[in-house]
Amino acid sequence: MSNIAENIQNIRQQIASFEQKYDRVPDSVLLLAVSKTQTADKIRQAHTCGQQDFGENYLREALEKITTLNQLPLNWHFIGPIQSNKTKALAENFDWIHSVDRFKIARRLNEQRPSGQPPLNVLLQVNLSNEASKSGVTLMQLPELAEQVSKLSSLKLSGLMTIPAPSTNFEQQRSTFRQLTEARNKLIEQGFNDCRHLSMGMSGDFEAAIAEGATIVRIGTNIFGARTAR
Ligand SMILES: *Cc1c(COP(=O)(O)O)cnc(C)c1O
Repeated sequence: MSNIAENIQNIRQQIASFEQKYDRVPDSVLLLAVSKTQTADKIRQAHTCGQQDFGENYLREALEKITTLNQLPLNWHFIGPIQSNKTKALAENFDWIHSVDRFKIARRLNEQRPSGQPPLNVLLQVNLSNEASKSGVTLMQLPELAEQVSKLSSLKLSGLMTIPAPSTNFEQQRSTFRQLTEARNKLIEQGFNDCRHLSMGMSGDFEAAIAEGATIVRIGTNIFGARTAR
């Protein structure tokens, strides 16, 4: 077995043990393998142990891999910043978009989603650190964006995503993730019934994220090793 496949099996075991430790339903957390900067061959190795969900940040690089691997039954998630001239390719080639943070992008994805395909799963990216430089809507702006996106019939408002400022303090990690869970719970109360997913947690903080309700953890380094500069 390759190292990559072995790493994936180890992380799956860790996820399962955290589900148990924090009273989560077994198999309620999806492992998203973040394959940015990694080759198609490494993705193939990951697939040998059943990994189907892959996350990419850079459109051009992603499209090459999607084309190369089109014989494999993979689910592609876009997790990077979105420029409006990229929405057509995103709508045509991805199954999930985690990083929608403004209505203009959502409207374009909705118009450009091919009619033969199922609604595109969309997560709204929330900026919990309130750093002006980071992408994501604030918690204040979130209800309005959710309202607008929920009306777009070629999109499915499936949940929320966040990338917190890095912290090595477990309790601080948890309290940040808890804010996203509470925001999700409020949206569900308001009737956004499909908005149940929480994409939160990376290699350094996925235990805290699972403790607070993550349904998708995005893991790169722990699967593929340290990334070299792009
Ligand atoms: C790169 C990246 C990840 C993976 O981070 P690791 O620390 O390598 O696990 C997760 N989410 C996003 C949005 C990323 O850009």
